[in-house]
Amino acid sequence: MTLRQIVTLPDPILRRKAKPVTRFDADLQTLIDDMIETMREAPGVGLAAPQVGIPERVIVVEYAEDEEDEVAPKKLYVMVNPEIKAASEETEEGIEGCLSVPGWQGEVERALAVTVKGQTSRGKPMKVKAKGWMARIFQHEIDHINGVVFTDRATKVWKPQPEQAPLDNV
Ligand code: ZN
Repeated sequence: MTLRQIVTLPDPILRRKAKPVTRFDADLQTLIDDMIETMREAPGVGLAAPQVGIPERVIVVEYAEDEEDEVAPKKLYVMVNPEIKAASEETEEGIEGCLSVPGWQGEVERALAVTVKGQTSRGKPMKVKAKGWMARIFQHEIDHINGVVFTDRATKVWKPQPEQAPLDNV
């Protein structure tokens, strides 16, 4: 596995719609393994392929599902060609930070729950139902493969003070 460099704004790759994956081969597995390593090293709780300079529809997410239980084990999701198939009408404001927009945070309104459909690294169909922070991470990463960054959606953005607790970046 290899650490990849995380690209940041204003790199135009972050503004492009990424291509669907059609080959579920060894190169895809290498990309996924590298993305997982790069996400963990950053550290972050999610990463999309355009963030490592690859314009393909691949995301990885690693987060503890139950946000109320701090000892809940983290779960790793790898999703190829992910799409939001359903989103709750109920939304929630939350503070986001992004590995590709270093030094900024913003308040973003997101659906409270989403159903995401996509494929595994081997091309098998998969579905994830996520709520709360996990739903937010999926929405943030799927935005990345559509060329959208959180500052586009944020109602306000700011530079956090050094004494503020760090966020889980995505
Ligand atoms: Zn991001």
